[in-house]
Amino acid sequence: MNEGIQPHPKNAAGPFYVVNGCCASCELPLEDAPELFAFDGKSHCYVKRQPSSKEEFDKALLAASGAELACIRYKGSDPEILRRFAELGRPELCDDRPPGHIQPVFRNCVTFDALDPCTSLTGPDLARLFRDYVQLPDRNTIICRFTPMEEKGSTATFSYAWYNDNFHPIEFSSIDFPYGRWLIRHSPVEKLGSRSVSYEVHDWLRNDGRFCSIHWYSEPEWNGTKHWQDTPW
Ligand code: SF4
Repeated sequence: MNEGIQPHPKNAAGPFYVVNGCCASCELPLEDAPELFAFDGKSHCYVKRQPSSKEEFDKALLAASGAELACIRYKGSDPEILRRFAELGRPELCDDRPPGHIQPVFRNCVTFDALDPCTSLTGPDLARLFRDYVQLPDRNTIICRFTPMEEKGSTATFSYAWYNDNFHPIEFSSIDFPYGRWLIRHSPVEKLGSRSVSYEVHDWLRNDGRFCSIHWYSEPEWNGTKHWQDTPW
């Protein structure tokens, strides 16, 4: 435990903890991982249960990286978790710092298959599905703006923004048409909000129900080693 950092008294015993007295009532942990976090009577969250599966660790990491005021921390020493914090660009959230040579990684390319091999969606089909998903009123209270979609063969591109003119370009293409393997790439240069696009695409792919074998790459990984992760973080 870092000196001067006091954990919330209700935290479940284990490596993830919420810092006591550090709260802007952001509610993000309950959106990202409601099974792992709860609110005390003052709208201050705490860890109600430690993650125990890969999916729950994914959620805990996402919540920690998005928490306002850096108030969700990790005091464990699992090299895999430390690596992921470092690649998220958030090594300071770990009591035991990850090895210094691990640099932040921005994963902005994703490939995926169809669960049903008979599914034959084109890049433009996928672009429209994602655009509709982003605008679903029950999942997004932020109003997005979209540039007109440009289609060329089985590839479609558009840009979208949810804050001022901070537009994020995104491209959808089939890489194994008609057998169903696709590639989505966005934001060739990382800027404010770019990682949120990856998270939104991942959320859509996971929730749609038609897709599987989701592989995330950074641009250098996609163009080179093809080393992938199953989440963008
Ligand atoms: S993550 Fe931090 S700011 Fe958000 S509810 Fe929890 S303690 Fe409060």
